[in-house]
Amino acid sequence: MKYIGAHVSAGGGVENAPLNAMKINAKSFALFTKNQRQWTSKPFTEDNITRFKKNLKKSGISEKMVLPHDSYLINLGNPDPEKLEKSRDAFIDEMERCSQLGLSKLNFHPGSHLKAISEEKSLDLVGESINIALHKTSGVTAVIENTTGQGTNLGYKFEHLAHIISLVEDKKRVGVCLDTCHTFAAGYDIKTSEGYIDTFNLFEKLVGFKYLKGMHINDSKQPLGSLKDRHHSIGKGEIGLDFFKRLMKDDRFDNIPLVLETIDETIWKEEIELLYSFI
Ligand code: MN
Ligand code: MN
Ligand code: ZN
Repeated sequence: MKYIGAHVSAGGGVENAPLNAMKINAKSFALFTKNQRQWTSKPFTEDNITRFKKNLKKSGISEKMVLPHDSYLINLGNPDPEKLEKSRDAFIDEMERCSQLGLSKLNFHPGSHLKAISEEKSLDLVGESINIALHKTSGVTAVIENTTGQGTNLGYKFEHLAHIISLVEDKKRVGVCLDTCHTFAAGYDIKTSEGYIDTFNLFEKLVGFKYLKGMHINDSKQPLGSLKDRHHSIGKGEIGLDFFKRLMKDDRFDNIPLVLETIDETIWKEEIELLYSFI
């Protein structure tokens, strides 16, 4: 079964996110559990937590279909030791917030080497960061998102995801999230039928579908291999509808959150309906 949803707003309180998901008939959703552009946020009150859980129940969406996203400021591969520690602390805080809400996954971008160290050294730091966070928390899986490779960002090759996973001690608590726009912009040609087959065969070989804990479902404004991270509405970008039709019929993408991060939230309800119509 497919669980399609969107990255909904948690404005006015984290407890509003499940209600926003309900309004668009989502069967999964993503959210920021704190302001994604600030280092610190107020801790949750008991009231936030109780109401979030109550609203989640009301929405009929399982905790397993919620894929929280961490702050954009966090860089778990930061070559600067002080900044790395700040990121690691913030990441642990994010994991604890997920756990308080009864959620079991946290989606994040691996990090950036900032040209100060090699990609490999920075990937090693990411692996170490995950181990530290997993030791200090419980019940939450670290879900690494692939990226477009813009700037000095890591995670644009399946090999990077595999490298990080190989360093994680508790393999049960690590996974990946494939963003379709990022995959395409990074140079994986998922648009054509042969490219689709090859890309996901390669993913199976290098990473493995058993680690796939979620997807971000986005079209791309920029062409194949552009390395630019510009999302577009489904069918309106460079990837095109055929890809999304194939994806919806592919049972390797069953039973995980499939989350829209497309640019026009006023049509999310229609986009979800459209994607369901392809199954
Ligand atoms: Mn992301
Ligand atoms: Mn994404
Ligand atoms: Zn993106």
